[in-house]
Amino acid sequence: MNNRTLIIGSGLAGITLVRELRKLDKEREIIVITADDGVFYSKPNLSNAFAANKRPEEMVLTPAVKLEHDLGILIMAHTAVARIDAGRREVVCTQGTLAYDQLVLAVGASQIPLPLAGDGVPDAISINSLADYARLRSRLAGKRSVAIVGAGLIGCEFANDLRLGDFAVDVYDQIEQPMGRLLPPVAAQQLRDKLTAIGVGFHLGARLEAIRRDGERYILIDSQGNARPYDLVLSAIGLRPNLALAKTAALATGLGIVTDAFLRTSDPNIYALGDCVELGGLFLPYVMPIMLGAKKLAGTLTGNPEPVTYPAMPIVLKTPACPTVVSPPPSPLGHWDETVSADGLRALFVDQASGQPSGFVVQGSFTKERMALAALMPNLSA
Ligand SMILES: Cc1cc2nc3c(=O)[nH]c(=O)nc-3n(C[C@H](O)[C@H](O)[C@H](O)COP(=O)(O)OP(=O)(O)OC[C@H]3O[C@@H](n4cnc5c(N)ncnc54)[C@H](O)[C@@H]3O)c2cc1C
Repeated sequence: MNNRTLIIGSGLAGITLVRELRKLDKEREIIVITADDGVFYSKPNLSNAFAANKRPEEMVLTPAVKLEHDLGILIMAHTAVARIDAGRREVVCTQGTLAYDQLVLAVGASQIPLPLAGDGVPDAISINSLADYARLRSRLAGKRSVAIVGAGLIGCEFANDLRLGDFAVDVYDQIEQPMGRLLPPVAAQQLRDKLTAIGVGFHLGARLEAIRRDGERYILIDSQGNARPYDLVLSAIGLRPNLALAKTAALATGLGIVTDAFLRTSDPNIYALGDCVELGGLFLPYVMPIMLGAKKLAGTLTGNPEPVTYPAMPIVLKTPACPTVVSPPPSPLGHWDETVSADGLRALFVDQASGQPSGFVVQGSFTKERMALAALMPNLSA
Protein backbone atom coordinates (compact mmCIF):
# COMPACT_ATOMS: atom_id res chain seq x y z
CA MET A 1 0.00 0.00 0.00
CA ASN A 2 1.32 3.44 -0.88
CA ASN A 3 1.06 5.38 2.34
CA ARG A 4 4.21 7.40 2.98
CA THR A 5 5.39 9.96 0.48
CA LEU A 6 8.83 11.28 1.24
CA ILE A 7 9.88 14.48 -0.49
CA ILE A 8 13.50 15.60 -0.39
CA GLY A 9 13.72 19.38 -0.76
CA SER A 10 11.53 22.24 0.48
CA GLY A 11 12.00 24.65 -2.42
CA LEU A 12 9.25 25.63 -4.82
CA ALA A 13 9.14 22.09 -6.23
CA GLY A 14 8.84 20.26 -2.90
CA ILE A 15 6.26 22.58 -1.35
CA THR A 16 4.16 23.03 -4.50
CA LEU A 17 3.96 19.27 -4.81
CA VAL A 18 2.75 19.00 -1.19
CA ARG A 19 0.06 21.59 -1.90
CA GLU A 20 -1.10 19.74 -5.02
CA LEU A 21 -1.06 16.40 -3.20
CA ARG A 22 -3.16 17.76 -0.36
CA LYS A 23 -5.83 18.90 -2.83
CA LEU A 24 -6.21 15.24 -3.83
CA ASP A 25 -5.44 13.38 -0.62
CA LYS A 26 -5.90 14.87 2.84
CA GLU A 27 -4.82 11.74 4.69
CA ARG A 28 -1.57 10.35 3.38
CA GLU A 29 1.58 10.74 5.42
CA ILE A 30 3.90 13.28 3.81
CA ILE A 31 7.37 13.99 5.14
CA VAL A 32 9.58 16.70 3.67
CA ILE A 33 13.29 16.38 4.42
CA THR A 34 15.33 19.46 3.71
CA ALA A 35 18.90 20.57 4.19
CA ASP A 36 17.75 24.16 4.71
CA ASP A 37 15.44 25.71 7.32
CA GLY A 38 12.23 24.74 5.51
CA VAL A 39 10.72 28.23 5.20
CA PHE A 40 8.81 28.98 2.02
CA TYR A 41 9.94 32.02 0.03
CA SER A 42 9.88 33.14 -3.59
CA LYS A 43 13.32 32.50 -5.08
CA PRO A 44 12.67 34.65 -8.19
CA ASN A 45 12.24 37.65 -5.89
CA LEU A 46 15.85 37.35 -4.74
CA SER A 47 17.03 39.12 -7.88
CA ASN A 48 14.86 42.18 -7.40
CA ALA A 49 15.01 42.52 -3.63
CA PHE A 50 17.91 44.96 -3.26
CA ALA A 51 16.23 47.87 -5.00
CA ALA A 52 13.22 47.32 -2.75
CA ASN A 53 15.61 47.11 0.24
CA LYS A 54 14.00 43.86 1.39
CA ARG A 55 15.39 42.28 4.52
CA PRO A 56 15.66 38.46 4.30
CA GLU A 57 13.07 38.03 7.07
CA GLU A 58 10.58 40.05 5.03
CA MET A 59 10.93 37.61 2.16
CA VAL A 60 9.66 34.60 4.10
CA LEU A 61 6.19 33.81 2.79
CA THR A 62 5.40 30.90 5.13
CA PRO A 63 7.42 29.69 8.13
CA ALA A 64 8.06 25.94 8.32
CA VAL A 65 5.82 25.46 11.39
CA LYS A 66 2.90 27.06 9.56
CA LEU A 67 3.48 24.84 6.52
CA GLU A 68 3.45 21.81 8.81
CA HIS A 69 0.25 22.93 10.47
CA ASP A 70 -1.63 24.07 7.36
CA LEU A 71 -0.63 21.15 5.15
CA GLY A 72 -0.57 18.39 7.78
CA ILE A 73 3.01 17.38 7.04
CA LEU A 74 6.24 16.87 8.91
CA ILE A 75 9.21 18.97 7.80
CA MET A 76 12.60 17.67 8.89
CA ALA A 77 14.65 20.85 8.53
CA HIS A 78 18.44 21.13 8.59
CA THR A 79 18.54 17.46 7.62
CA ALA A 80 20.70 16.40 4.69
CA VAL A 81 19.95 13.11 2.96
CA ALA A 82 23.21 11.34 2.23
CA ARG A 83 22.06 8.19 0.49
CA ILE A 84 19.08 6.34 -0.99
CA ASP A 85 18.75 2.59 -0.62
CA ALA A 86 16.27 1.97 -3.43
CA GLY A 87 16.15 -1.78 -2.81
CA ARG A 88 14.98 -1.30 0.79
CA ARG A 89 13.04 1.89 -0.02
CA GLU A 90 14.90 3.86 2.59
CA VAL A 91 16.83 7.09 2.75
CA VAL A 92 19.75 7.66 5.05
CA CYS A 93 19.97 11.15 6.49
CA THR A 94 21.75 12.94 9.30
CA GLN A 95 18.98 11.89 11.70
CA GLY A 96 18.92 8.21 10.79
CA THR A 97 17.08 6.00 8.30
CA LEU A 98 13.59 6.65 6.99
CA ALA A 99 11.40 4.32 4.92
CA TYR A 100 9.24 5.46 2.01
CA ASP A 101 6.62 4.10 -0.32
CA GLN A 102 7.09 6.89 -2.85
CA LEU A 103 10.14 9.11 -2.92
CA VAL A 104 10.31 12.46 -4.71
CA LEU A 105 13.64 14.15 -5.35
CA ALA A 106 13.10 17.92 -5.38
CA VAL A 107 16.74 18.69 -4.64
CA GLY A 108 17.22 21.60 -7.03
CA ALA A 109 20.39 22.74 -8.73
CA SER A 110 23.59 24.41 -7.55
CA GLN A 111 25.76 27.17 -8.93
CA ILE A 112 28.57 25.98 -11.15
CA PRO A 113 31.86 26.73 -9.35
CA LEU A 114 33.85 29.58 -10.89
CA PRO A 115 36.60 28.08 -13.08
CA LEU A 116 39.10 30.81 -12.17
CA ALA A 117 42.45 30.98 -10.43
CA GLY A 118 43.34 33.14 -7.45
CA ASP A 119 42.87 33.41 -3.70
CA GLY A 120 39.73 35.54 -4.12
CA VAL A 121 37.70 32.81 -5.81
CA PRO A 122 36.40 31.18 -2.58
CA ASP A 123 34.99 34.55 -1.48
CA ALA A 124 32.85 35.00 -4.60
CA ILE A 125 29.20 34.68 -3.70
CA SER A 126 26.32 33.20 -5.70
CA ILE A 127 22.62 33.58 -4.98
CA ASN A 128 20.49 30.48 -5.08
CA SER A 129 18.67 30.60 -1.74
CA LEU A 130 17.33 32.98 0.86
CA ALA A 131 20.38 32.21 3.01
CA ASP A 132 22.62 33.28 0.10
CA TYR A 133 20.68 36.53 -0.19
CA ALA A 134 21.13 37.18 3.54
CA ARG A 135 24.87 36.58 3.10
CA LEU A 136 25.01 38.93 0.13
CA ARG A 137 23.30 41.70 2.08
CA SER A 138 25.61 41.40 5.04
CA ARG A 139 28.71 41.22 2.82
CA LEU A 140 27.59 44.35 0.94
CA ALA A 141 26.93 46.44 4.04
CA GLY A 142 29.03 49.58 3.74
CA LYS A 143 30.45 48.49 0.34
CA ARG A 144 30.08 50.17 -3.00
CA SER A 145 31.20 48.13 -5.98
CA VAL A 146 30.21 44.72 -7.32
CA ALA A 147 31.57 42.65 -10.20
CA ILE A 148 29.06 40.18 -11.61
CA VAL A 149 30.57 37.23 -13.45
CA GLY A 150 28.07 35.97 -16.04
CA ALA A 151 25.85 38.13 -18.25
CA GLY A 152 23.01 35.61 -18.43
CA LEU A 153 19.49 36.11 -17.16
CA ILE A 154 20.38 36.07 -13.45
CA GLY A 155 23.50 38.20 -13.96
CA CYS A 156 21.53 40.87 -15.84
CA GLU A 157 18.74 40.87 -13.26
CA PHE A 158 21.18 41.36 -10.39
CA ALA A 159 23.02 44.05 -12.37
CA ASN A 160 19.79 46.01 -12.76
CA ASP A 161 18.75 45.46 -9.16
CA LEU A 162 22.09 46.28 -7.53
CA ARG A 163 22.44 49.35 -9.71
CA LEU A 164 19.01 50.53 -8.54
CA GLY A 165 20.28 49.81 -5.04
CA ASP A 166 23.01 52.39 -5.82
CA PHE A 167 25.97 50.05 -6.17
CA ALA A 168 28.60 50.48 -8.87
CA VAL A 169 28.13 47.35 -11.01
CA ASP A 170 30.27 45.81 -13.75
CA VAL A 171 29.24 42.66 -15.62
CA TYR A 172 31.78 40.23 -17.09
CA ASP A 173 31.23 37.53 -19.69
CA GLN A 174 33.40 35.81 -22.25
CA ILE A 175 30.49 35.98 -24.72
CA GLU A 176 30.23 39.25 -26.66
CA GLN A 177 26.62 40.01 -25.69
CA PRO A 178 24.43 39.75 -22.60
CA MET A 179 22.11 36.73 -22.50
CA GLY A 180 23.99 35.34 -25.45
CA ARG A 181 22.18 32.02 -25.44
CA LEU A 182 18.64 33.39 -25.26
CA LEU A 183 18.56 36.66 -27.21
CA PRO A 184 19.26 37.54 -30.84
CA PRO A 185 22.03 40.17 -31.14
CA VAL A 186 19.69 43.11 -31.70
CA ALA A 187 17.70 42.34 -28.53
CA ALA A 188 20.89 41.73 -26.56
CA GLN A 189 22.18 45.12 -27.71
CA GLN A 190 18.96 46.81 -26.55
CA LEU A 191 19.32 45.18 -23.15
CA ARG A 192 22.96 46.19 -22.95
CA ASP A 193 22.23 49.78 -24.01
CA LYS A 194 19.44 50.20 -21.46
CA LEU A 195 21.49 48.72 -18.63
CA THR A 196 24.46 50.86 -19.66
CA ALA A 197 22.18 53.91 -19.55
CA ILE A 198 21.48 53.31 -15.85
CA GLY A 199 25.20 52.96 -15.18
CA VAL A 200 25.96 49.23 -15.48
CA GLY A 201 29.43 48.60 -16.94
CA PHE A 202 30.01 45.68 -19.32
CA HIS A 203 33.28 43.85 -19.95
CA LEU A 204 32.28 41.30 -22.57
CA GLY A 205 34.21 39.10 -24.94
CA ALA A 206 37.28 38.67 -22.74
CA ARG A 207 37.95 35.59 -20.65
CA LEU A 208 38.36 36.16 -16.94
CA GLU A 209 41.41 34.41 -15.54
CA ALA A 210 41.69 35.15 -11.85
CA ILE A 211 40.29 36.84 -8.79
CA ARG A 212 42.98 37.99 -6.39
CA ARG A 213 42.49 39.37 -2.90
CA ASP A 214 43.89 42.80 -2.22
CA GLY A 215 43.20 43.60 1.43
CA GLU A 216 39.43 43.97 1.68
CA ARG A 217 39.01 44.14 -2.09
CA TYR A 218 39.10 41.75 -5.04
CA ILE A 219 41.00 42.29 -8.28
CA LEU A 220 39.49 40.74 -11.41
CA ILE A 221 42.09 39.92 -14.03
CA ASP A 222 41.12 39.08 -17.61
CA SER A 223 43.00 37.40 -20.44
CA GLN A 224 43.89 40.80 -21.92
CA GLY A 225 45.73 41.72 -18.73
CA ASN A 226 43.11 44.17 -17.43
CA ALA A 227 42.89 44.28 -13.63
CA ARG A 228 39.99 46.01 -11.89
CA PRO A 229 39.19 46.20 -8.15
CA TYR A 230 35.78 45.53 -6.55
CA ASP A 231 34.34 45.18 -3.07
CA LEU A 232 32.50 41.97 -3.93
CA VAL A 233 32.32 39.39 -6.71
CA LEU A 234 28.94 37.84 -7.51
CA SER A 235 29.03 34.65 -9.55
CA ALA A 236 26.14 34.08 -11.95
CA ILE A 237 27.60 31.62 -14.42
CA GLY A 238 24.76 29.13 -14.30
CA LEU A 239 23.25 26.20 -12.48
CA ARG A 240 23.89 22.49 -12.54
CA PRO A 241 21.27 19.99 -11.26
CA ASN A 242 22.13 18.27 -7.99
CA LEU A 243 22.78 14.67 -8.99
CA ALA A 244 24.81 13.27 -6.10
CA LEU A 245 21.85 11.79 -4.25
CA ALA A 246 20.33 10.23 -7.39
CA LYS A 247 23.68 8.63 -8.10
CA THR A 248 23.70 6.88 -4.72
CA ALA A 249 20.66 4.95 -5.98
CA ALA A 250 22.21 4.47 -9.43
CA LEU A 251 19.32 6.40 -11.01
CA ALA A 252 19.75 7.38 -14.65
CA THR A 253 21.28 10.84 -14.86
CA GLY A 254 22.44 13.03 -17.70
CA LEU A 255 22.32 16.78 -17.51
CA GLY A 256 19.75 16.26 -14.74
CA ILE A 257 17.97 13.35 -13.08
CA VAL A 258 16.42 11.68 -16.10
CA THR A 259 12.65 11.17 -15.88
CA ASP A 260 9.90 10.02 -18.18
CA ALA A 261 6.88 12.21 -18.93
CA PHE A 262 5.36 11.12 -15.59
CA LEU A 263 8.41 12.53 -13.79
CA ARG A 264 9.33 8.96 -12.84
CA THR A 265 13.04 8.21 -12.63
CA SER A 266 14.63 4.94 -13.68
CA ASP A 267 13.41 3.50 -10.33
CA PRO A 268 9.62 3.00 -10.40
CA ASN A 269 9.18 4.26 -6.81
CA ILE A 270 11.31 7.38 -7.17
CA TYR A 271 10.18 10.58 -8.91
CA ALA A 272 11.85 13.94 -9.46
CA LEU A 273 10.56 17.50 -9.82
CA GLY A 274 12.03 20.96 -10.30
CA ASP A 275 15.50 22.22 -11.11
CA CYS A 276 17.06 18.75 -10.70
CA VAL A 277 15.05 17.22 -13.57
CA GLU A 278 15.94 16.39 -17.14
CA LEU A 279 12.82 15.49 -19.13
CA GLY A 280 12.99 14.69 -22.82
CA GLY A 281 16.50 16.15 -22.93
CA LEU A 282 15.24 19.47 -21.50
CA PHE A 283 16.65 21.14 -18.38
CA LEU A 284 14.21 23.94 -17.51
CA PRO A 285 15.17 25.60 -14.21
CA TYR A 286 12.13 27.87 -14.04
CA VAL A 287 8.91 28.29 -12.10
CA MET A 288 6.37 27.30 -14.77
CA PRO A 289 7.68 23.75 -15.35
CA ILE A 290 7.49 23.21 -11.59
CA MET A 291 3.89 24.42 -11.32
CA LEU A 292 2.78 22.27 -14.26
CA GLY A 293 4.83 19.28 -13.15
CA ALA A 294 3.64 19.40 -9.52
CA LYS A 295 0.00 19.19 -10.58
CA LYS A 296 0.59 16.22 -12.85
CA LEU A 297 2.88 14.45 -10.40
CA ALA A 298 0.31 14.79 -7.62
CA GLY A 299 -2.16 13.00 -9.91
CA THR A 300 0.35 10.28 -10.68
CA LEU A 301 1.22 9.74 -7.01
CA THR A 302 -2.47 9.41 -6.11
CA GLY A 303 -3.25 6.85 -8.76
CA ASN A 304 -4.25 9.00 -11.74
CA PRO A 305 -1.11 9.13 -13.83
CA GLU A 306 -0.97 11.95 -16.34
CA PRO A 307 2.04 12.82 -18.49
CA VAL A 308 3.59 16.28 -18.32
CA THR A 309 3.68 18.30 -21.50
CA TYR A 310 5.39 21.65 -21.54
CA PRO A 311 3.77 24.39 -23.59
CA ALA A 312 5.81 27.46 -24.55
CA MET A 313 6.70 29.06 -21.22
CA PRO A 314 7.81 32.68 -21.68
CA ILE A 315 10.32 33.98 -19.14
CA VAL A 316 9.82 37.53 -17.90
CA LEU A 317 13.15 39.21 -17.15
CA LYS A 318 13.23 41.30 -13.99
CA THR A 319 15.19 44.05 -15.71
CA PRO A 320 13.00 47.16 -15.34
CA ALA A 321 15.58 49.16 -17.33
CA CYS A 322 14.64 47.04 -20.35
CA PRO A 323 11.39 45.07 -19.97
CA THR A 324 12.02 41.81 -21.82
CA VAL A 325 10.10 38.55 -22.27
CA VAL A 326 11.73 35.51 -23.86
CA SER A 327 10.14 32.31 -25.12
CA PRO A 328 13.07 30.12 -26.19
CA PRO A 329 12.48 27.94 -29.26
CA PRO A 330 12.56 24.14 -28.77
CA SER A 331 15.17 23.77 -31.53
CA PRO A 332 18.01 26.22 -32.25
CA LEU A 333 17.75 25.58 -36.00
CA GLY A 334 16.09 28.53 -37.69
CA HIS A 335 16.42 32.29 -37.93
CA TRP A 336 15.21 35.45 -36.20
CA ASP A 337 12.81 37.92 -37.85
CA GLU A 338 13.04 41.24 -36.05
CA THR A 339 10.82 44.31 -35.89
CA VAL A 340 12.48 47.22 -34.11
CA SER A 341 10.76 50.46 -33.15
CA ALA A 342 11.76 53.47 -31.09
CA ASP A 343 10.23 52.00 -27.94
CA GLY A 344 10.86 48.29 -28.26
CA LEU A 345 11.40 45.19 -30.31
CA ARG A 346 9.70 41.99 -31.42
CA ALA A 347 11.86 39.10 -32.63
CA LEU A 348 10.19 35.93 -33.89
CA PHE A 349 12.25 32.78 -34.25
CA VAL A 350 11.25 30.93 -37.41
CA ASP A 351 11.83 27.19 -37.18
CA GLN A 352 13.90 25.85 -40.07
CA ALA A 353 11.92 22.61 -40.49
CA SER A 354 8.34 23.92 -40.21
CA GLY A 355 8.83 27.51 -41.38
CA GLN A 356 6.59 28.50 -38.42
CA PRO A 357 7.38 30.76 -35.44
CA SER A 358 8.72 28.64 -32.58
CA GLY A 359 10.11 31.23 -30.16
CA PHE A 360 10.09 34.95 -29.52
CA VAL A 361 11.61 37.87 -27.70
CA VAL A 362 9.67 41.06 -26.99
CA GLN A 363 11.04 44.20 -25.39
CA GLY A 364 9.64 47.55 -24.32
CA SER A 365 6.13 48.28 -25.58
CA PHE A 366 6.04 44.95 -27.47
CA THR A 367 5.95 43.02 -24.17
CA LYS A 368 2.18 43.51 -24.14
CA GLU A 369 2.04 41.00 -27.01
CA ARG A 370 3.56 38.20 -24.95
CA MET A 371 0.37 36.27 -24.16
CA ALA A 372 -0.88 36.40 -27.74
CA LEU A 373 2.51 35.30 -29.07
CA ALA A 374 2.85 32.50 -26.50
CA ALA A 375 -0.45 31.05 -27.72
CA LEU A 376 1.05 30.71 -31.22
CA MET A 377 4.14 28.82 -30.10
CA PRO A 378 4.52 25.03 -30.31
CA ASN A 379 4.90 22.90 -27.18
CA LEU A 380 8.41 22.63 -25.79
CA SER A 381 7.94 18.93 -25.08
CA ALA A 382 5.84 16.33 -26.87
C1 LIG B 1 18.02 34.67 -8.33
C2 LIG B 1 17.05 33.80 -9.07
C3 LIG B 1 16.01 34.37 -9.77
C4 LIG B 1 15.11 33.58 -10.48
N1 LIG B 1 14.11 34.18 -11.18
C5 LIG B 1 13.23 33.41 -11.86
C6 LIG B 1 12.16 34.01 -12.60
O1 LIG B 1 12.03 35.23 -12.66
N2 LIG B 1 11.29 33.20 -13.25
C7 LIG B 1 11.42 31.84 -13.22
O2 LIG B 1 10.59 31.14 -13.83
N3 LIG B 1 12.42 31.24 -12.53
C8 LIG B 1 13.32 31.99 -11.85
N4 LIG B 1 14.32 31.39 -11.13
C9 LIG B 1 14.36 29.91 -11.06
C10 LIG B 1 13.38 29.37 -9.99
O3 LIG B 1 13.48 30.15 -8.83
C11 LIG B 1 13.74 27.92 -9.71
O4 LIG B 1 13.43 27.19 -10.89
C12 LIG B 1 13.00 27.28 -8.54
O5 LIG B 1 12.96 28.10 -7.41
C13 LIG B 1 13.67 25.94 -8.20
O6 LIG B 1 12.99 25.30 -7.17
P1 LIG B 1 13.40 23.83 -6.71
O7 LIG B 1 12.48 23.49 -5.59
O8 LIG B 1 13.49 22.92 -7.86
O9 LIG B 1 14.90 23.95 -6.18
P2 LIG B 1 15.52 24.69 -4.83
O10 LIG B 1 14.75 25.90 -4.55
O11 LIG B 1 16.94 24.78 -5.13
O12 LIG B 1 15.23 23.65 -3.70
C14 LIG B 1 16.04 22.52 -3.50
C15 LIG B 1 15.77 21.98 -2.12
O13 LIG B 1 16.44 20.74 -1.97
C16 LIG B 1 17.09 20.69 -0.71
N5 LIG B 1 18.17 19.71 -0.82
C17 LIG B 1 19.09 19.58 -1.81
N6 LIG B 1 19.87 18.51 -1.58
C18 LIG B 1 19.43 17.94 -0.43
C19 LIG B 1 19.83 16.79 0.34
N7 LIG B 1 20.83 16.00 -0.04
N8 LIG B 1 19.15 16.53 1.48
C20 LIG B 1 18.12 17.31 1.87
N9 LIG B 1 17.70 18.39 1.18
C21 LIG B 1 18.35 18.70 0.05
C22 LIG B 1 17.51 22.14 -0.48
O14 LIG B 1 17.78 22.38 0.88
C23 LIG B 1 16.26 22.87 -0.99
O15 LIG B 1 15.27 22.90 0.02
C24 LIG B 1 15.25 32.16 -10.45
C25 LIG B 1 16.31 31.58 -9.74
C26 LIG B 1 17.21 32.38 -9.06
C27 LIG B 1 18.35 31.75 -8.31
